Amino acid sequence: MNRITLLGATGSIGDSTLDVIARHPDRFEVVALAANSNATKLRELCHRFRPRYAALCDERAADELRKALRADAIATEVLGGVDALVMVASLPEADTVLAAIVGAAGLAPTLAAARAGKRILLANKEALVMGGPLFMDAVVQGGATLLPIDSEHNAIFQCLPAHYGRDPARAGVRRILLTASGGPFRTRPLAALADVTPDEACAHPNWSMGRKISVDSATMMNKGLEVIEAHYLFGASPESIEVVVHPQSVIHSLVEYVDGSVLAQLSHPDMRTPIAHALAYPARIDAGVPTLDLARLSALAFEPPDFQRFACLRLAYDALREGGTAPAALNAANEAAVAAFLAGRITFTDIAAACEAAMSRTPTRALVTLDDAREADAQARSHAEAWLAARPVRGTVPA
Ligand code: NAD
Ligand code: MG
Repeated sequence: MNRITLLGATGSIGDSTLDVIARHPDRFEVVALAANSNATKLRELCHRFRPRYAALCDERAADELRKALRADAIATEVLGGVDALVMVASLPEADTVLAAIVGAAGLAPTLAAARAGKRILLANKEALVMGGPLFMDAVVQGGATLLPIDSEHNAIFQCLPAHYGRDPARAGVRRILLTASGGPFRTRPLAALADVTPDEACAHPNWSMGRKISVDSATMMNKGLEVIEAHYLFGASPESIEVVVHPQSVIHSLVEYVDGSVLAQLSHPDMRTPIAHALAYPARIDAGVPTLDLARLSALAFEPPDFQRFACLRLAYDALREGGTAPAALNAANEAAVAAFLAGRITFTDIAAACEAAMSRTPTRALVTLDDAREADAQARSHAEAWLAARPVRGTVPA
């Protein structure tokens, strides 16, 4: 029996994870569910999965949930506040922590899971981008196991040899090829990008995801964060990680070896496949995903990324090459800019501009302790906010 804590239970990855778990009650037991503030949805999930603990970051929402579950006569213990997330991430009753909180908010609990030696199934790429080497050290020192859920990284993991050891040269790896769909605006005229609305940006052609990652996919910051994620996860140099645009999202990434072999992982664009892979690893279980009908796929297309259209991708490579606290700063500036865009305060093209401005104003330091990352995060957020505040306010709030 696998005993699981699910961080980010009310989100898109949370939904996909619980769908897979519900298909295998003989294998998985939900010990704890955690989220930000959605007490109504967490209450429903407590009814279905009867976890021992439920945690909400928002204390008032936690109070609401506690009262509701008491009235429902459900024995789940409800915890509230940021510390509650850290607590459920390191519970002795759970062996596996699925990290699917969105953004830098996921860092502290995911790090706690690493220190507690858990098997970590990582979706929360921002935590790794922000904490990078510190997070990987915590995994080693805590005796934790890290399995990637992000579809590209899960694909790469599947294409690498077992016991890879984060040493590309020893494994004969020449290149890691991260595929990217190019998002909804791959072919839209550049001049029209400033008019994109949040709902358009969130309407991804192939994947159904939370709003923040959907906007990141539209700017390709998501791919940039994934390049950084791949660097830390697989020990690959920035030069050996390439992005290839593949609009169909059937090949989720590829690994090229020195003998010229290229291995790829293919599946429907459905997060239940990488989630099921990581949940059951090294076994294989049914994920509820249909067979991939190759005959019906008329063609698989590939093209190089357009660094002018997708300035965020270039910024991410720059931050990775710069190292230290630069990735943490980029991630924070992006979170601030995406939140402002989703709130209708700025245009789509302001996102990249705000990130670039914040990066140029935030000094990069060595990443020695977590406080270095937190400080860079706070500085970059405030530089991005200041830059955004100086922009003209949009006339209308998009629907
Ligand atoms: P989402 O917005 O649908 O869900 C986010 C979850 O995080 C929710 O449960 C929310 O309650 C929780 N959360 C947000 N802020 C929090 C806070 N301050 N404290 C505690 N909990 C908080 O997002 P998602 O699409 O499920 O993505 C989750 C993570 O997985 C992100 O890091 C994303 O990049 C990554 N990811 C998602 C997909 C996907 O297909 N959705 C694919 C790959 C990676
Ligand atoms: Mg991905």
